[in-house]
Amino acid sequence: MRQNQRTCRSCGDEFAVNERQMERLLASPAFAPELRVSEAEYESRLAVCESCPKFHGGTTCMLCGCLVPVIAHLKSKNCPYPGGSRWAAWGEA
Ligand code: SF4
Repeated sequence: MRQNQRTCRSCGDEFAVNERQMERLLASPAFAPELRVSEAEYESRLAVCESCPKFHGGTTCMLCGCLVPVIAHLKSKNCPYPGGSRWAAWGEA
């Protein structure tokens, strides 16, 4: 299965972010509650990424290099998918 995954040419598994590092990031002022989307929107974003061909290794968007489980919390971030954000449908009626 692993051979089917596209890997980053620069980074190996040693650059994977562990849960402790994630918790430390999310506790920083950059992730203050007022800067975050709702939990429901966060979960929706993750679900969209999980079905995206640009999602790699359960953590990384291959278009922007972002750690999706981290940046999907932020109101200021958006999906860089060509032709339009795949997150855009959230909240639109
Ligand atoms: S392109 Fe958008 S939907 Fe796909 S992994 Fe990146 S952020 Fe997620």
